[in-house]
Amino acid sequence: MSSPFDPAYLQIIAAVFGLFIGSFLCVVVHRYQIPGQTPSHPKRSSCPECGHFLSWWENIPVLSWVALRRRCRACHVLIPARYPLMELLTALVWWVAVGATAEGEYLLLGVHLLVLSALLTATFVDLDCYEIPDSVSIGGMVLAPIAACAVPALHQYTWVAQWLSDGTEITRGASVAASLIGMAAGGGILIMVSRLGSRAFGQDAMGFGDVKLLAAGGGFIGPGGVLVALLLGSVTASVVGVSNLLRFYCLVRGRDRTRGRRRGRASAWRTARVAGQYLPFGPHLALGVALVMLFWEPYLVDWFLGT
Ligand SMILES: [Zn+2]
Repeated sequence: MSSPFDPAYLQIIAAVFGLFIGSFLCVVVHRYQIPGQTPSHPKRSSCPECGHFLSWWENIPVLSWVALRRRCRACHVLIPARYPLMELLTALVWWVAVGATAEGEYLLLGVHLLVLSALLTATFVDLDCYEIPDSVSIGGMVLAPIAACAVPALHQYTWVAQWLSDGTEITRGASVAASLIGMAAGGGILIMVSRLGSRAFGQDAMGFGDVKLLAAGGGFIGPGGVLVALLLGSVTASVVGVSNLLRFYCLVRGRDRTRGRRRGRASAWRTARVAGQYLPFGPHLALGVALVMLFWEPYLVDWFLGT
């Protein structure tokens, strides 16, 4: 199938759409934190500080933030930079997704954009509230087999699906099987890791939200892909975790020095470890799933096989 659109135009259109989707995700994430407000609450966007309703020109992604000089027009409270950053990140992800999805595969692209937007939501909520919304994780587990049945190309690189299809085209049955096995693998491996972790360290290393998120991810990228996603996520989580520990360690040492307090390096290290242990894992799992979904073939496969 050839595309009626020039891929470059399609990427630009997707990025612009992504800005508005990102703006919508900001609202979803913000309302998730207010008890009693469901994310789909039908209400016009307003300033969280003074309740001033935003007119259309105050609600344009990124541009309004720049035009309003980062402040609410009514109460002049600063609008956090993370809102335009979330919008730009969503736009970037949509732009990349169009470039990474095979040309003309619009259904597959639709599934990719939906999954990526859900992963961004999980990331933002997890960073803010240390939890992953069930609407993303359980919703993803429900949607994965349906998407696999509707768009078998979703599992074109999953070995289970290739093996069950016995040909060049992935059948719907094989794709659904790959999705279900992927979910079991994603959830199962994380339950095992967290059991081992709690036995080794005597504390829960992971929340059940992470287990559900990786299970949902497995439904979209299959059992082999989900293992690679976990590996990638663990690498980025370790890098962030270690730099966070070092940051806290330097903070503690610096504070001790200014207060003229003398204490050993080991004691400062212990304090840093307590302060640095609360890092959400969800964003790293989401990143791993997104990378595998978009770049499995040819980049990750080549990288893993060392070719
Ligand atoms: Zn205001």
